[in-house]
Amino acid sequence: MLRFHAPFDGKRYIGDNRLRIFHDCAYEAVSTGPDGCGIDRIPDEEVRTFEPDTMSGAVLWGFVHCPYCLQRRQSIQSANK
Ligand SMILES: [Zn+2]
Repeated sequence: MLRFHAPFDGKRYIGDNRLRIFHDCAYEAVSTGPDGCGIDRIPDEEVRTFEPDTMSGAVLWGFVHCPYCLQRRQSIQSANK
């Protein structure tokens, strides 16, 4: 889900500066446990957004895709084929 408050500002791709990973909010894996994306557990000062707000934009900055939302995106996309 998109978050429209700071520091997210409605961006789709959200980076975590501590882990150098980024999340795709459109396929966010929501979990109350330790697994899942945990975007809400990233401290505000460690949140990173990208310009352009694209996957390749995030990769360009040296971030890697979070495995949880990557897996969700791949399974949803392959189910729609
Ligand atoms: Zn994620």
